[in-house]
Amino acid sequence: MPEIIQLSTSVINKIAAGEVVERPASVVKELLENAIDAGATRIDVAVEQGGTELIRLVDNGCGISRAQLPMAVASHATSKIQTADDLFSVGTFGFRGEALASIAEISHFLLRSRPPEEEAGYELAVNGGQTADIVPCGCPSGTTIEIRRLFFNTPVRQKFLRTTQTEMAHITEVFTRSALAHPQIHFTLSHNGRSQYDLTATDQWLQRITAFFGRELADALLLVESEDGPIQIRGYVANPTQSRSNNKMQYVFLNGRPIRDRALQHALGEAYRGLLLTGRFPVAFLHMTMPLDMVDVNVHPTKLEVRFQDSGQLYSQLLGMLRSRFLTTDLTAKVDLPSDGTTSKTEPAKKTEPATRQDFAQWARSPHVAATQPSSPAVEQSALASFPRQSLLDLQKHSTLPDAFSVGQSPTASVTEATEESSLDDLSVATVSTHPSTPTTNPQSAPSTRAVQIHNRYIVTEGDDGVVVIDQHALHERILYELLREKVLAQNVETQKLLVPEPVALGPVERATLLEHRDLLKSLGISVEDFGGDTVLLSSYPAMLANLEPEDLLRHLSDKLLEGRQIPDQRDVLDELLHLISCKAAVKAGDRLSNEEITTLIDQRHVVQDSHHCPHGRPTTLVFTRQELDRRFKRI
Ligand code: ADP
Ligand code: MG
Repeated sequence: MPEIIQLSTSVINKIAAGEVVERPASVVKELLENAIDAGATRIDVAVEQGGTELIRLVDNGCGISRAQLPMAVASHATSKIQTADDLFSVGTFGFRGEALASIAEISHFLLRSRPPEEEAGYELAVNGGQTADIVPCGCPSGTTIEIRRLFFNTPVRQKFLRTTQTEMAHITEVFTRSALAHPQIHFTLSHNGRSQYDLTATDQWLQRITAFFGRELADALLLVESEDGPIQIRGYVANPTQSRSNNKMQYVFLNGRPIRDRALQHALGEAYRGLLLTGRFPVAFLHMTMPLDMVDVNVHPTKLEVRFQDSGQLYSQLLGMLRSRFLTTDLTAKVDLPSDGTTSKTEPAKKTEPATRQDFAQWARSPHVAATQPSSPAVEQSALASFPRQSLLDLQKHSTLPDAFSVGQSPTASVTEATEESSLDDLSVATVSTHPSTPTTNPQSAPSTRAVQIHNRYIVTEGDDGVVVIDQHALHERILYELLREKVLAQNVETQKLLVPEPVALGPVERATLLEHRDLLKSLGISVEDFGGDTVLLSSYPAMLANLEPEDLLRHLSDKLLEGRQIPDQRDVLDELLHLISCKAAVKAGDRLSNEEITTLIDQRHVVQDSHHCPHGRPTTLVFTRQELDRRFKRI
């Protein structure tokens, strides 16, 4: 029988170090947090060899008195909390009291400190956990900590170190987060003696953001603000012309603490849906403040993740704030190809306020009725014949949208948008101009007469200001999405009832997922029941999807639902499903359309809110203005 022994402090500290100190950047993070907690107004960080040789941090904060020095490096010793109750109102970065003890265990550690009111400073060295005597030293007011040869006595950790460059990149990221969170502190960073950043204190957040990311990004930022009870969100989000291939440029701070939160990242993605291409991520700098007792910071060793008392509320507040901001802003990017035809330049949008988008803003803010309540029995409408042909023509009779969507009131309709991502490269004529909100076309008038389908995928027609090229799939998808969403909201989805419910065999996970979301699926007109084993019974599905095999449909749905497992908000799961269904139901590139279908599609594009982007954010329509054509043909 193995013997149970009490571990030594040294082993305990090494274990703690394993949690807190993953790499040099973790040390920098802990030291920065301590300096900020100490009330420093200036923090200098110097690093050598990506932090593996040296990390030195100098602050001008409150310092540590001689008597307290041994406590600073003792484990579970902190000046920041006293009782467990304090854990629920942590206003400092630190509180675990184990960072310095852990770091000193696995490095050559030197701490010099002098509180401002004291004459002399003192120095404490710890080598791999062995504390030396405290000796007087000359030092400026504040604290200097030097960490040399991190991991020298933990060879396994050392093996996991990456290149100097990679480690430095991590340090820079940690530094960036702290410096962004505290613009009122003067920060510097140097690597191998070379200055990387010298950021003087400022009360303008934008100035600090600009110092890191440059003027071009800063110019594309929109100020956002929202206050809901005790929760405040303020900051900047980028015009969709500025997006990234990952979510690293989403800096979220909670009460001054940089955090990562999947739900908030999701809310950001959701707000930009349709504005960014799939796979692109928004850029955001958001600062949230809320009472300390509304958040638990003690859920993660490095405190990067926190737990909100009401994360659903925060999610909605963020999403609502962004949606209404976007809906009152013209986010259109004006894409211009210089006459030499080499590169395209993207200008940030100018801001206008198209009034018609207000009602849509209302929708964006209001809770989603259909998603949370079990829906009323769906309207049965059996013989909607084969898809896709039928359904495209069906658009005509389905285009009865509520007032906010009605054609006469929709002056946003005439134009073109192209985000940076529009595939201009493929086009020989590459200027896309934008004319936000000009009420030029009345879609109820005679349909555009001249329209042709080319390559079985694009429709070319004449608009008031130029040649309009429509991506048939993208536009149809967008229209179906809007119509379907309306119907779901009105609990009025046409469904196809199966005379004999169809058993569909799935995997255990798929089956469980579908059954778990039975009510949600019901609101889309999809009825599934448990059949035992891994099989579910499908008894009805949306008429729009008549062309899809039940098995395919259910697999697609469960995939989407599984993907969406992290999504806290049901209405966003529903939205994902709406996108899926409209994509599956829309005509495809390659489908030959009849003249009547072409006319229908063109006429209907004016009834949807954002007919310029498909739900995946690709543009649905491009306009080559007459003026631009004239210019290119050297007429003007
Ligand atoms: P924690 O930050 O969780 O309290 P640490 O191990 O990081 O634990 O620090 C231990 C204690 O040492 C802190 O509570 C604080 O009192 C003191 N301390 C650490 N760094 C500094 C600093 N830069 N300036 C002043 N005091 C410091
Ligand atoms: Mg600390």
